[in-house]
Amino acid sequence: MSYLEDIVLGVEETNDRGAPEVTISIKGLTMLKDGLICGRCLADLRPLGAFPEKCPDCGFKVKELQQQQMIEDVKKTVKVGSRVSLQDEIDALGVWTPSQGDNLHL
Ligand SMILES: [Zn+2]
Repeated sequence: MSYLEDIVLGVEETNDRGAPEVTISIKGLTMLKDGLICGRCLADLRPLGAFPEKCPDCGFKVKELQQQQMIEDVKKTVKVGSRVSLQDEIDALGVWTPSQGDNLHL
């Protein structure tokens, strides 16, 4: 049993882009937010403590970039989610395509 079984619910290969779409559990999302797993490769960072300088596996700058990346992901999600104005929502849906979906799927 790997820690990833609790975190990754599914991985879907995509043909049009390099990165596969990864579906992450609430637990995984919380660990990402807390800097306990790498936001790029999902390496277990717990032995290093929260938000280490760099991921030991892929070199991702966890301390510098992970929280920013989470914020960007949330922004993308909000863009297709609820808006006050229906027209805004329609406009947002018009420009959004799954190919921009590097965000996390809950
Ligand atoms: Zn990594």
